[in-house]
Amino acid sequence: MAEQVLFDKPKVELHVHLDGAIRVETILDVANGDREAIKRIAYEFVEDKAKEGVIYVEVRYSPHLLANSNVEPIQWNQPKGDLSPDEVVRLVNEGLRKGEGAFKIKVRSILCCMRHMPSWSMDIVELCKKYQDEGVVAIDLAGDESLNCEANPDHRKAYEEAVRCGIHRTVHAGEVGPASVVKEAVEVLKAERVGHGYRTLEDEALYKKLLAQNMHFEVCPISSKLTGACNSDFTQHPVITFRMDRANYSLNTDDPLIFNSTLHLDYSTAHKHMGFTEEEFKRLNIKSAESSFLPNEEKKQLLQELYEAYEMIQSTAF
Ligand code: ZN
Repeated sequence: MAEQVLFDKPKVELHVHLDGAIRVETILDVANGDREAIKRIAYEFVEDKAKEGVIYVEVRYSPHLLANSNVEPIQWNQPKGDLSPDEVVRLVNEGLRKGEGAFKIKVRSILCCMRHMPSWSMDIVELCKKYQDEGVVAIDLAGDESLNCEANPDHRKAYEEAVRCGIHRTVHAGEVGPASVVKEAVEVLKAERVGHGYRTLEDEALYKKLLAQNMHFEVCPISSKLTGACNSDFTQHPVITFRMDRANYSLNTDDPLIFNSTLHLDYSTAHKHMGFTEEEFKRLNIKSAESSFLPNEEKKQLLQELYEAYEMIQSTAF
């Protein structure tokens, strides 16, 4: 797809899957449980984001899906692997830290529970706790929302433990599933951000409530068209309503490799087909930084960086 760099200023990205951002040539190595390949995909991810002008990114993945010790081999002649989800997290952390050093951007990670695998969720929250000083900032719930709209008790327990331990929480909800999934994400799983959340608009009372709560929606325009989650006519996209209501949301790629896409395309699409202006791009990036899962001091620094790059006068507390 032709690419236009429309908003060539520092950006924040909060919803992007590492397991969907793997460069094609790396996929086979990863499938074979190659430890170097895991580090490399993390490192290359940081390089790709730096090129897109992203200065802070939260990248997410399922450690279980990148591991091979817990799953039966895909092909009959493959041996069962010995790469555990715990080791995957260590390897990804290593790659991300190396990338941060090389490309001078800040990267944090989010570990994903999968809706179809409730038995993995307690592992995930334990990994979040274990690695919270090494860049893991939050827990996510990903996968097919239609599988179980009502959160499985295992997912619920994992999220309760996250709340108890101060682990930040986001949930994929209202992408293809109904508004009730969003409601449950916020009310039961105590999500602080909603992944996609488009179908929140179908429940006006819920939408108003979330607007009033300053709930953050992680919007992924190109992804939502290609997955069929939203109308393929971008002029009908829910994010236009979010914009008009000055909601709190970010623009994200979601799965750049699968969609053969970059963040530039999401921005240029928002401009060309949805009437987004440079002012709105600045506003939504500031909102994204405010809704990031960084500790307060680091969040302030990130906001300061954006204010300076956008030539905005920072409002002071005085
Ligand atoms: Zn996603």
